[in-house]
Amino acid sequence: MTPSNPVDPVAKLAEAKARLKAALAEAGRDAAVELVAVTKTHGPHEIMPLLEAGHRRFGENRVQEAQSKWPALKARYPDIILHLIGPLQTNKVADAVALFDVIESLDRPKLAGALAAEMTKSGRRPALFVQINTGEEPQKAGVLPTEADAFIAACRADFGLEPEGLMCIPPAAAAPAPHFALLAKIAGRCGLNKLSMGMSGDYEIAAQLGATQVRIGSALFGARGTTPHAPVAS
Ligand SMILES: *Cc1c(COP(=O)(O)O)cnc(C)c1O
Repeated sequence: MTPSNPVDPVAKLAEAKARLKAALAEAGRDAAVELVAVTKTHGPHEIMPLLEAGHRRFGENRVQEAQSKWPALKARYPDIILHLIGPLQTNKVADAVALFDVIESLDRPKLAGALAAEMTKSGRRPALFVQINTGEEPQKAGVLPTEADAFIAACRADFGLEPEGLMCIPPAAAAPAPHFALLAKIAGRCGLNKLSMGMSGDYEIAAQLGATQVRIGSALFGARGTTPHAPVAS
């Protein structure tokens, strides 16, 4: 805890885990749901307490921001599992494959081709999730629901990629449950069994509707400010 961050992420993490557990019990769902701590805009001084408490799974939405803090943290804690949860440009694919263990934003053939080539070249094989634009929002990344089956088939047949699951970000103003249910339905018919869905405001609902991982930021760290984080001292 620092004066600029009155929130205690370790206590908040315990609270979120307890709420997840209660939501799963309420739904009669006997499953482990991974909690991805989303650390965008937050610096090493806020992340370190979670690492010291044993948490290892984290998410960032920008390659460049992640590069500025995670190599040093991964050097100290080699078992960190880092998820890319934001859009990926093809010119950042090599950097993303080098740094991330899970890439959740696969959403177009050009990116599938670039990822396949880089994975062959580097020998690194991050787990891949296909992002679905369940709300069909024009400004949002992701494959349209009507195009999901064909895109997933193309990932397998044309690019030799085997996505592990699906990811979605429901429209901010909408009730999230129908979007989570749609994601689960698409995954089911495409033979995928991992679902990345649910954020600070709706992770309990997502867990009840089949999430295998939830992505939680502000519920752990408080509201995101605009102050850039300090670099990691090495
Ligand atoms: C920022 C972000 C989150 C976390 O959002 P909170 O509401 O702060 O929990 C989850 N998923 C994605 C894709 C994000 O960009």
